[in-house]
Amino acid sequence: MAAIEMKHIVKKYGDGFPAVNDVSIDVADGEFMILVGPSGCGKSTLLRMIVGLEDITSGDMIIGGERVNDLAPRDRNLSMVFQNYALYPHLTVYENIAFPLRLAKMKDSEVDEKVRAASKTLDLDEHLQRKPANLSGGQRQRVAMGRAIVRDARAFLFDEPLSNLDAKLRGQMRTEIARLQKQLGITTVYVTHDQTEAMTLGDRVAVMKRGILQQLATPRELYEQP
Ligand code: ADP
Ligand code: ADP
Repeated sequence: MAAIEMKHIVKKYGDGFPAVNDVSIDVADGEFMILVGPSGCGKSTLLRMIVGLEDITSGDMIIGGERVNDLAPRDRNLSMVFQNYALYPHLTVYENIAFPLRLAKMKDSEVDEKVRAASKTLDLDEHLQRKPANLSGGQRQRVAMGRAIVRDARAFLFDEPLSNLDAKLRGQMRTEIARLQKQLGITTVYVTHDQTEAMTLGDRVAVMKRGILQQLATPRELYEQP
C-alpha cells in the first residue's frame, strides 16, 4: 500500500484554469518524492492539499489507507517544514523542537528523551539553550527539521526549504536532508523549482506544468530521456 495516494486531485480557485488538474500520484512508504516545476505550476497547492491547508475541489487524498479529504491538518499526523523555518524567536532550540510534544501534552521526561534523540541526530545537542537569532541558517533549518522528526509523523512535507539559503549552505543542507531522510526512512514529499535539488534528492520526480502532471519518473529515467 502506498503511504500517500493522490487520486484525480483537482483544485480550482474561482472559475479559471485549475491550479491542480487531475493529478494522480502514489508515494510509496519511505519514498522521497519531488514535486518540481516552474512558479505557478500548482506544486505548493498540491502539497497544501496533502497537509490539509487547502480544500480539495475533487478527487481523493488517501494517507496510510485513510481518506483524509475532510480531516483537519492536526489530525493527519504529518510534519511540514517551511521555507522560512517558522521557528519561535523567543524560544530556545530545545523548546522549539519540543513544541509539538508540548502541544500534545506529553510528559516532561518523555519530551526530554525525544528532544535529545532528535537533536543528536541533527547535531544540535550543543545548541539546545540558544535562541534562533543566534544560529546560522543551516542550524535553523536543522531545528525546523528537529521539530518535524520529534513527532513520529507519518510523512515529511517540504515546501522549498532551502530557497532562502546561499548556494554553499544549500548544497550542504541538500546532502543533510538526503542523509536524514534515508536514515529515518520516512516518506517525504518535497516541493522545489530547482532542477538540481529535484535530480539529486528524489527517488522519483513528479514534473508539473500548468497544474498538470507531465512526468513521473526516477532521476535516472529523466536524465536518459532524449
Ligand atoms: P511562492 O512563489 O512562494 O509559491 P506565491 O506568490 O505563489 O509564492 O504565493 C504566495 C501566497 O499567495 C500563497 O499563500 C498563495 O496561496 C497565495 N496566492 C498565490 N497566487 C494567488 C492568487 N492568484 N490569488 C490569491 N492568492 C494567491
Ligand atoms: P507553485 O507552487 O508551483 O508556484 P501554486 O500552487 O502556488 O504554484 O499556484 C498555482 C496556481 O494557483 C497559480 O496560478 C496561483 O496564482 C494560483 N493560486 C495559488 N494560490 C491561490 C489562491 N489562494 N487563490 C487564488 N489562486 C491561487
